[in-house]
Amino acid sequence: MNPLYAEMPTSIFAHMSALAVAHHAVNLGQGFPDFGWPDDVVAKAAEALTHGSNQYAPMLGLPALREAIADHYRHHQGLALAPAQVFVTSGATEALAAAILALVSPGDEVLLFQPLYDAYLPLVLRAGGVPRFLALAPPDWRITAAALAEAFTERTRLVIFNNPHNPTARVFGRDELALLADACVAHDAVALTDEVWEHLVFDGRAHVPLASLPGMAERTVKVGSAGKIFSLTGWKVGWVAAPAALAGPIAKAHQYLAYATPPNLQAAVAYGLGKADAYYDGMRRAFEAARDDLAARLAEIGYVALTAEGTYFLNVDLAASGIAGDDACFCDRAVRAAGVAGIPVSAFYAERPVTTIVRLCFAKREETLAAGIEGLARARDLMRAP
Ligand code: PMP
Ligand code: GLN
Repeated sequence: MNPLYAEMPTSIFAHMSALAVAHHAVNLGQGFPDFGWPDDVVAKAAEALTHGSNQYAPMLGLPALREAIADHYRHHQGLALAPAQVFVTSGATEALAAAILALVSPGDEVLLFQPLYDAYLPLVLRAGGVPRFLALAPPDWRITAAALAEAFTERTRLVIFNNPHNPTARVFGRDELALLADACVAHDAVALTDEVWEHLVFDGRAHVPLASLPGMAERTVKVGSAGKIFSLTGWKVGWVAAPAALAGPIAKAHQYLAYATPPNLQAAVAYGLGKADAYYDGMRRAFEAARDDLAARLAEIGYVALTAEGTYFLNVDLAASGIAGDDACFCDRAVRAAGVAGIPVSAFYAERPVTTIVRLCFAKREETLAAGIEGLARARDLMRAP
């Protein structure tokens, strides 16, 4: 066995969701909505399933979807991508795997921001990459010039950058993106930008793709996912958009990971990406209202929350909320004894974890959030600091 996998724990998302089911707890852990999806997108998939092809899709994805992705990014983010620069994967997770396998050679230094989404590090290590971590510090989680100067070296080949950021819920500002872009250009490094949360930015913010900064279009591999855009996380339709020189080798990795993605789901996503701006604005407003609802309910029961600028997530600071013990201990007791699941943010660290923050998913119906709050009140009573 490869020791990396033999010794690896189960992903925190699978672990907490299984505990939530076993203990009949409200699941505010793993990020998925419980309030449905756009019916027209699902109807398109059903129509394609019944009347379209159910055989292998083209390896690079349906031409209609590759074109829709390029059009979507031109319209929403001002990117000039040819459909030939885009290919479809089975979720962003497969896109990340293909990109890391294709871009990292043994000994290459790969820069990762901590806290980090859990899929990145095992893939970097399996590819033989040497990880270097840049720690973002709560409560602001800001990228600074000093931290970048320390983290980049002459051996940095790849930077994996997630924006909007899971689990901190940060949407990095233009100033921070400019610092990062300058460092990538100065070190001739490639950026793998995980932008699956790109449509979930709140309070009037706009998503700025790293690829749009000066010098970045030719060195950025952008990853996206339909799961978050249409509240269809189970579909696992993702994509890669990159300059041809980078997209080519990544597609070679993809051909021996998933090869292709269900054609009917692709057809529906192609339709969905062309929906009017009103859909995207309405979705953003609905998530923003759910965030505000959860924040208000948390405040009522004495939890101190951090700012959430994007994503489905709101973080609470246990220490500031008067709760003793660390985040892992809190989440374990909360799901087993208080009927609510969250995600300990320490699970997103490879070294020197912050251990006092719990991530809560607000992509839920009002009654789910209300039931989750009852559980969180019980959990606080169980673990209140003396
Ligand atoms: N990257 C990040 C930052 C995510 O939060 C997620 C899932 N929420 C993914 C990648 C995986 O996306 P997919 O389900 O399309 O594989
Ligand atoms: N990205 C989701 C989250 O952060 C989980 C995805 C998964 O379970 N692999 O909750």
